[in-house]
Parts: sequence; C-alpha cells; structure tokens
Amino acid sequence: MPTEKCPDCGCCHFYVKDPDDQYNISEFELVEGEIIYSGEEAEGGHLKVDEETETFCDKCAWHDQFKVLKS
Ligand SMILES: [Zn+2]
Repeated sequence: MPTEKCPDCGCCHFYVKDPDDQYNISEFELVEGEIIYSGEEAEGGHLKVDEETETFCDKCAWHDQFKVLKS
C-alpha cells in the first residue's frame, strides 16, 4: 500500500496552487489513490494535479511533488 499521506504529519488533506495565481488553490483529499476535491472550487474549475505538481499539506508545512505521495 502506498502511503498517500503527508510524510510529516500523516494528514491526507492537501492543496495545490495555480501556477499563475498563488491565491487560487484547489483542496483535495487522497482516498485510495483517488483525488477527491473538497472545499470551494477554484476559479475556472478544479486545478489539474499531475505527478510533478507541487502539493502542499493542509495541516503542516510539508510540500513536495505529488508523485512523492504515491511512492
Ligand atoms: Zn502534513
């Protein structure tokens, strides 16, 4: 089983930032490897998350590329 949790605090709530607008974010939860968006929808719809997307933990200061959560 991949961890799919924050390596620092074990939280499974994350968010990503729009590269063009740091205040435009999409929050999501990782459930069995699936991205479940939560919270308010970002301007223009949910932001796309791919392997290289910088992903931020909702609870602590951890952030890294999304693929780190899958390893
Ligand atoms: Zn964390």
